[in-house]
Formats: sequence, structure tokens, C-alpha cells
Amino acid sequence: MKSANLGYPRIGRDREWKKALEQHWAGKLPEEQLHEELKAIRLDRLKVQQTLGVDIIPVGDFTYYDHVLDTACMFGLIPERFAYEGGTPDLGLYYAMARGNKDATALEMTKWFNTNYHYIVPELNGLTPKLTRNRLVDTYREAKQELGIDGRPVLLGLFTFLKLSKGYRQEELGGWIDALLPLYGQVLRELAEAGAAWVQIDEPILATTLGESDLALIARIYAELRQSAPGIRILLQTYFEAVDAYKAVTELPVHGIGLDFVHDGGKNLRAVLDQGFPADKVLGAGLIDGRGIWRADLQGKLDKLNAIRGAVSENRILVQPSSSLLHVPVSAKQETGLDAVLRGALAFADEKLEEIVLLVKANQLGLQAVKDELALAIQNRAALQQSPSRARSDVHRQIAGLASEPFERPSRFAARRETQRQRWQLPLMPTTTIGSFPQTPEVRSARSKWRKGEWSAERYESFVQEQIKIWIDVQTELGLDVFVHGEFERNDMVEFFGEKLAGFAFTANGWVQSYGSRCVKPPIIYGDVALEAPMTVAETVYAQSLTDVPVKGMLTGPITILNWSFVRDDLSREEVAYQIALALRKEVEALESSGIGMIQVDEPAIREGLPLKREQWPHYLNWAVRAFRLSTATVQDETQIHTHMCYSEFNEIIDAISDLDADVISIETSRSHGELIASFEDKTYDKGIGLGVYDIHSPRVPLVSEMTAMIDRALRVLAPDQFWINPDCGLKTRKYEETIAALRNMVEATELARAKYAEAASSV
Ligand code: GLN
Ligand code: ZN
Repeated sequence: MKSANLGYPRIGRDREWKKALEQHWAGKLPEEQLHEELKAIRLDRLKVQQTLGVDIIPVGDFTYYDHVLDTACMFGLIPERFAYEGGTPDLGLYYAMARGNKDATALEMTKWFNTNYHYIVPELNGLTPKLTRNRLVDTYREAKQELGIDGRPVLLGLFTFLKLSKGYRQEELGGWIDALLPLYGQVLRELAEAGAAWVQIDEPILATTLGESDLALIARIYAELRQSAPGIRILLQTYFEAVDAYKAVTELPVHGIGLDFVHDGGKNLRAVLDQGFPADKVLGAGLIDGRGIWRADLQGKLDKLNAIRGAVSENRILVQPSSSLLHVPVSAKQETGLDAVLRGALAFADEKLEEIVLLVKANQLGLQAVKDELALAIQNRAALQQSPSRARSDVHRQIAGLASEPFERPSRFAARRETQRQRWQLPLMPTTTIGSFPQTPEVRSARSKWRKGEWSAERYESFVQEQIKIWIDVQTELGLDVFVHGEFERNDMVEFFGEKLAGFAFTANGWVQSYGSRCVKPPIIYGDVALEAPMTVAETVYAQSLTDVPVKGMLTGPITILNWSFVRDDLSREEVAYQIALALRKEVEALESSGIGMIQVDEPAIREGLPLKREQWPHYLNWAVRAFRLSTATVQDETQIHTHMCYSEFNEIIDAISDLDADVISIETSRSHGELIASFEDKTYDKGIGLGVYDIHSPRVPLVSEMTAMIDRALRVLAPDQFWINPDCGLKTRKYEETIAALRNMVEATELARAKYAEAASSV
């Protein structure tokens, strides 16, 4: 039995990686030096794993930006617009693909399966692949020469790579496999020649729902690879879910199969135990959670390991994380600012590797040899479990009585609509914005002065009030119909709320890579969630005091808070969502009783929480919708609930979105080229809806005519009297002048549209 790792964070202990990349992009770090700095980080990561005693250390999981982009570049799959002329793609070209340059737009980026990591989407259109540089050989040799580590190279599997790429038709898939197979074969042969005994080939696509024809293609790929590179052994690695086609996958002609035993709903282990595991293969047993941040229940893991030993011989078992550790922060040892009980229960990448090594040691030397470490780990977990933060009787009582909580508003939408019309008397196609106004350097510096204690709370609050006042005046001058206060007191959508709610903690250095050099530091939900004091009432009420125009209250919804945090592992996500929802409901009620009559509960992350397997979608959507409704159902008919989502792949979840029962929804459309609008052709959506009429991601001020075109297109399928006019998303990343200019054009486009559609609306 050996310990193995599948991938380690790239960002460095102190985000040195991010800083080096960004300095290089800013022209402050020459290429030579960038290479040196990244090499130091790369070797440091290897050394850490070596010191921790990990037997099998991955190499080639490091990157200069993203591993899918690396794979595309390795095979010369560089879209024409980058004017690539062959040879090894240089760094300038590599970063142009990731980030765009003056001549060419960047490749798209999208979510890596169901994680919060985003990869670059390769574009294959008509390209011919060829091996440009076998970067795995270089990195394999480097680890050996510099540190004496005989690492296991990691390669993104051919099938997953193609499935994640775009720019080819389904019928062309087979052709692409044929074109790439010899190149993959060559990469493997060169690795074998360099001395690598094993290669880890990641095929996470195997944990999604695949059809027979896909499985046949996979069988062909691995049969050929095995033939063309007989000198190397393949560990075919899956993760993030159970492998449905267990038999077919474990029978593939490879030398080892890696399975996720954490995020599989227990199915992978059951398959191993019930259906057996091929005697000639190695099992990569993904026992330690590669994505969560909690210490493992080591006793439970040892029990699983024992069970596995009944089906697989000991010398064929690798104990490993469930996936790459890319998704967790580097080390919990740095978190000295956290409460000791909480810190003791955390396991980031380094601590997870310690757990893996410990499991192997326990197996080799017996429990006695690890009894102290084991006892400490068990005690640490128990301490958090028994802490008062998880024993709030008010929260537990409410959750126990959940069935009797209202999940439905007192009246149906049609009745509420009338009440709300009478109350608000809004013009046809009301204009509004999504919530945030520019977070200028001034706003950010004020917040940091207050955080550092240079400014008193009073001074900071009065600064925020000044900003609110400025923007209430701007909105008045523009003539918008529903105002917002501007969110100047927040830096992002979750931290502000997490800091005020019980049950949340914030690390000093718990960064994880989100995309490219961008890292996020998710809050940790470790205890029962509860509202201690109003969070947004003061700012909203202040804004409303300056105007007679309605000001929307502005909250982040339960599912978004959940999906953008690390969540405790002793409760289901569903239950934690309800806890958050109940806390938010109190805030909603506090806003309402302070005279705020429109409340927006943002849920930009509902879609990204969708499970990998389709068959699990209904369950997830069901509790996500219930959590949203729980947070909003107690308001009166005349109170208008808004929600907002920033994406356009809406088709498949439109029924769930409608079930949220929000009176008004605003969503992104301007970048989806009408795809979204088309989805309303066969689905009826009867509630208020604002399709973003311009893209806020660009500094360019959109023309009136462009917005008119968007409105016209939307009104082909939606009724003018349900339509709202707003930008795609919040305006926090924009500058003052461009925001005002864009909104001015938006108001003008609205006036034109009103003139044009007034008649249609009155005849409805
Ligand atoms: N209310 C938030 C804002 O305007 C919404 C942001 C989002 O959807 N990502 O910034
Ligand atoms: Zn948005």
C-alpha cells in the first residue's frame, strides 16, 4: 500500500504565483525572472510533498495559467486569430490565448465540472494538432534532477480534453480522437524513455453521465494508447462523482483506476465491494476529500480501507485524495488567527497529505504506531462537533419544525401583481439597476482604512452615506424608476453577510485558485447560521430617506452564500441552506418593517451548484428553490421580491427559476446573442422579468440603438407589461462616467420603447 497525491495547489504558500504572473503581465517582471520564480514555487511544492512522506508525487500538475490551456498548447491547438506559426508556443502567445491581446480576443473560460475552478475552453475549429513540446518530460526530469523525486506525470485525458473543447461537430469527434491518439502515444513513449514508470491520466468526464457510444470511444482510446506506449503504466483517474459504468471502466486496458470515494454518494465503494475489482489492476482509493477543508474522520476512513482490502490486495492499493488538491488552500498551519477549536478541525492540502500518509502508516505498522496522531485527530474533530457554535437551540428548533414554516407566499403571483401595481404605479417597462455602483479606488481605500483601524466606524459609515447620497442624486437625475443604494459597504457578495452572521469564519490565507491568477478566499461555514443583528437595514433605510422613488433592499441569497463558501460536513448542504435562508428571512422581514417595499435576493450561483449527474438535478433544484422561498415567503403581497442571476444558460432550469416565485427577476442576456430569448418561445414565463440590455463587463458605452435592438428582440417573446429594463449585472467594476453615460442611453432606449409599445401593452 502506498500514499499518492493527484495534484497540489499551484498558487504558492503566500500566493507568490499570482503575484509573479500579475507582475509579469504588468511588464514589471521579465520572462527570465518569471521562469525562475515559478520554478522555485514548483520545486517548493514538490519538496513539501516529499517531506510529508508522500510516496507518489504528481509532476506536471503545475501550470503557468491553466492545465487545459497547457494541453491545448502542447498539441498546438491555437486558434488562427493568434497568428501562430508553429514551433513551441511562446509565453506571449500562451497568455494572449488566456487573456486576449490587442489583435485577438481570449479563449472562453468556463467552470471545471462542479467546482469553482474555471478552465480555458480550447477551440478546435479546423486546426491540425501536432506535438509542440512535451512539457511533461521536462517537468518529470526536473523533479528527478533537482530533488531526486521520481514523480508521476499528470496528463489531462484525451476524451475529457475533447469533451471540454469546442469548435467541432459531434460527427467529428471520432476524427479528433484519431488525430490526437498518436500524439498522446508519443507523449507517453517519451515519458517512458525518460524513465517514468507510471502516468496519471485524468478523465473526470468518466464521472458524468455517458452513453454507450462514448464508452466505446473511451475503450478504443485506451486500447490504442496501451499498445502504442507499452513501456508505461497508466493510472486512469476519475473524480468528483461515482463512475456509473463501473464494469466497463474497470475493465479498460489500463493498469490502474482511480476512484473518488468521497463525492460518490457511496456508490464507488459499493461497486468495488459488490462487483469486485480486477486482480491485475491498481486501485487509486480517493479516501480523503480533495475539495472540502475539514479533517477527515480517520477512524471511518480506516474502516473503509479495511473493507477495500477485502476486495483488492494490499499491494495494489494507493491511498490518495478524492481529486487534485488544487481546490483547497495550502496549509491550515498559517491560520493562527482562528479560534483554536476551529483551526484544529481544518485540513488544507498539507494536512490532507498528512492524513493520507497516516492511513498508510496505520495499515503498515498497525494502529498502535499511530495511536497518538489518531487520537488527536479524533479529538480535534469532536471538539468542533461539540462546540457551542454547533449547538444553537434556536436554530435547531427551527430546523426541526421546518415542515410548518411557510414556503409559499400568502397569495399567488397574479393577485400580488395587482396589489403591487396599485402600490407602485410604475411606468411601462420600469428601469432599474442590479445593485452595485462603481467600487472606485476611493471606496476601496475607505474600507481598508476602516479595517485597519485608521478610520473609526462612524467615519466609515458617514463616508458610505455620502456615496449613497451621490448615487441617489445620480439616479434621480437619470430618471430611473427603481433605485438601489449602491452596495458601497460591501467588497463581494458573501463576505459582507458572512461577517455579520453567526456560524461563519474567515481565514487569513485560505486562498484557492478561481481562474488564471485570480484567487478567492471562501468563507467557512463552521457553525449554526443565525442572524444576530440587521445587516443591511441602516444603509437601505438611509437611501430610502433621500427619495420617494422605491429603493430596493439588496441581499445575497441562501444558495449563493452556500455555493461560494466552504461548508461544514456534519450536515447536508440542504440543511445548511435552510439555516442560511432562515437567517436571511429575518433580514427580509426587518427591511420590510422598516418601510422597504422591494427586496432583491440575488442568486447568481444557483446554476453552478447543479450536480454533475442529471438524475440528481431535480433533488438539488427542489431544495435550492425551497431555500430561496423560505427566505422570502413571509412578506406581504404588496412587497415585491426581486432576484438576479448572471448567466444565460437558462433553458434547462427555467421551471425551477419560475418556481422561485420572485415577483421580478433580472438576468444576463446581452452576451448570449438571443439564445436566452429563444428559450421563452416554448416556455411561458409570466412574472416580471428584466433581460439585461447591455453588457456591464466592458467599459464601452453601449449605443441607444443597440439597446433598442435588445429590447425589440425580447419583446417578441415577452409582454411589455412584464418587462423591466436593466443592465446585465451590477456596475461595481465600471467607472463613474461610463456608468452614467450607459444608463443615460438605457433610459433613452426605454423612452423610445415605451412610445413604441404603449399601445400593445394597453391592449393586453
Ligand atoms: N447585487 C449584486 C451587484 O449588483 C449582484 C452581483 C452578481 O450577480 N454577481 O453587484
Ligand atoms: Zn449578476
